[in-house]
Amino acid sequence: RQELYRSLRDRPAVTKDGQHIDLHMNAGLAVDLPQLAESGAEGIGLFRTELQFMVAATFPRAEEQERLYRQVIDIAENKPVTFRTLDIGGDKVLPYFAASQTEENPALGWRAIRLTLDKPGLFRTQMRALLKAAGGRELRVMLPMVTDVSEIRAARAMIDREVRHLSRFAHLLPTRLKLGAMLEVPALLWQLPELMREVDFLSVGSNDLFQFIMAADRSNSLVSDRFDPLSAPFLRVLRQIVEAANAAGKSLTLCGELAGRPLSAMALVGIGFRAISMAPAAIGPVKAMLLDLDATALNEKLTHALDSTGRQDIHALLRDFARAHN
Ligand code: PEP
Ligand code: MG
Repeated sequence: RQELYRSLRDRPAVTKDGQHIDLHMNAGLAVDLPQLAESGAEGIGLFRTELQFMVAATFPRAEEQERLYRQVIDIAENKPVTFRTLDIGGDKVLPYFAASQTEENPALGWRAIRLTLDKPGLFRTQMRALLKAAGGRELRVMLPMVTDVSEIRAARAMIDREVRHLSRFAHLLPTRLKLGAMLEVPALLWQLPELMREVDFLSVGSNDLFQFIMAADRSNSLVSDRFDPLSAPFLRVLRQIVEAANAAGKSLTLCGELAGRPLSAMALVGIGFRAISMAPAAIGPVKAMLLDLDATALNEKLTHALDSTGRQDIHALLRDFARAHN
């Protein structure tokens, strides 16, 4: 199998019916970077910047942040890298930084963009490091845990301020800055038209989105496997996002764990995703599956199942489809 995956490395992921699927990898530390070439990923769809903070004993200094970001962009060369701004809080705790009060529901608490908007020094330092590291190149920045589009506007205003600051001091700026948001809080689903106007791209964080849609803690084993991401309710949510992004002409990806499991990746492509980001080791198996997939035929089957009422066994549908078409 490993041999097979290696032989597919430089082959684009094109389905049997000619759909090109962008396969990106998730990363977060310098040690992950060799995987970019080894996995054959087309880029880094999610760079979790909080990992550098989580392995440190104190807040990484601005220069250390900048050094890591520059290293990532250098190694990626022409492959796109999407940097997610600090996603701390919730299950990602920094031993040297705590909220001023204990939180009974940390997953619903002071985390990610909520925290960085409240601590502008943190956000500004990180943005400055990113802007400097990407001087002369394209910079893609993604905001985690957005609940309301006004948070994107607030973050954008802070970013603009840093851009102005750097240009006043004649720093080389990125050639282009693309700002995106993670779609992982259900409230955003009812702001899709405004959201599409506010961002250059979107990425579904299916781990958190699923946790919040099902009201089931992703890290609590008593409930985490109780509900199925490949069930009609969740797939209908994802399909609605695909339709909204397509209608608005915005690029869309999904970067939760779902993307890395061949059967779920198959479902994602079946409902219309054309870009997904996953752990580097998952790229080979997912690509092997896609090369054998008729995405149009699967789309018809899934559309029918998701449009029907009554219980749908999507797992069985996917397995039967894979069997019948091989
Ligand atoms: C997600 O929520 O799906 C995601 C990709 O972000 P994280 O797992 O880092 O919360
Ligand atoms: Mg998340």
